[in-house]
Amino acid sequence: MSDPNRIISPEIVGDEVSEDRNLRPNSLNEFTGQEQLKESLSISIEAATQRGEPIDHCLFSGPPGLGKTTLASIMAKEMGVQIHITSGPVLERPSDLAGILTSLQERDVLFIDEIHRLSRVVEEYLYSAMEDFRLDIMLDSGPGARSVNLPLKPFTLVGATTRAGMLTSPLRARFGLQFRLELYSQTEIVSILKRSAHILGVELHPDSATLLSARCRGTPRIANRVLRRCRDVAQVRGNGTIDMGAAERTLSMLGIDEDGLDPMDRRILMTIIDKFGGGPVGLGTIGAALGEEVETIEEVYEPYLIQQGLMSRTLRGRMATRNAYRKFNLVPPRQFDLQAELPLG
Ligand code: ADP
Repeated sequence: MSDPNRIISPEIVGDEVSEDRNLRPNSLNEFTGQEQLKESLSISIEAATQRGEPIDHCLFSGPPGLGKTTLASIMAKEMGVQIHITSGPVLERPSDLAGILTSLQERDVLFIDEIHRLSRVVEEYLYSAMEDFRLDIMLDSGPGARSVNLPLKPFTLVGATTRAGMLTSPLRARFGLQFRLELYSQTEIVSILKRSAHILGVELHPDSATLLSARCRGTPRIANRVLRRCRDVAQVRGNGTIDMGAAERTLSMLGIDEDGLDPMDRRILMTIIDKFGGGPVGLGTIGAALGEEVETIEEVYEPYLIQQGLMSRTLRGRMATRNAYRKFNLVPPRQFDLQAELPLG
């Protein structure tokens, strides 16, 4: 688990839980960005509603904080059904799964976060549940073992994963709808910041919104977090309004630089440059050098560093790019161009 106090931490922390609920969009209309995804999803929702059936099982993938959970709850709201939320690691045994599946009502949404972390045995039980709305479960073991076939009410499984590549193909094949969420553009983040500021009842200057939008990694959850910190700074050190002064002060307090990088991003890049000659170097080695979990680097930090053109993934490991050297006013080593020719694609 990453440090929950860090602004880009994927975990929901402290007072965020209740406030987050207010900031969460309640309908596809309120949900900013991801236009193509919304269009496909709204068609599926409408078609399912007209037929009185559940929506097809749906898989959302992409970095944390981009709106996967939000979309699942919007699907349930728009269908007028309940959402049941759980996660891969929580469903340890088949009986955990059986408990939740048998409690579902007609067309309900079952949301499984981190679905790539389901245990193999639970995953296998899920197959018949998804396909035929049946659960074949073994009771007892040994000679007295018997198989029970439980009918389930038709439901929609919504899976979310930060690592689509780790899903097994039989599981992936059972999702009729599959969407990848992309990082948001600055314009979209400005809209999200304005909407959230309005809900929080704090005035946000347009130039502050533009400044902040470039510093929150294209991620709504981080945008909302930075906004809350700005609100605190404006309240305690300013006049209650998020003007440029309050925005700049907050960003420097959080250690977020002009490229939107936080201290850990900079440490990752400097480790590759300083300790490993710019790479290529394996993620495990970077993680060990920094005392950070490989998963966190891969899911939380790397997507943004790659998007910003500061890190690249090659067949032999991660590399700092020329831009990364330039950022720190350093000169890349001479063999650099040769190595950079092996991108992973
Ligand atoms: P994920 O499940 O992908 O980690 P969440 O759905 O929990 O992300 O989203 C994190 C927070 O970001 C939500 O509480 C919501 O307030 C905000 N958010 C996410 N996507 C959007 C969006 N498209 N428009 C407005 N707010 C959003």
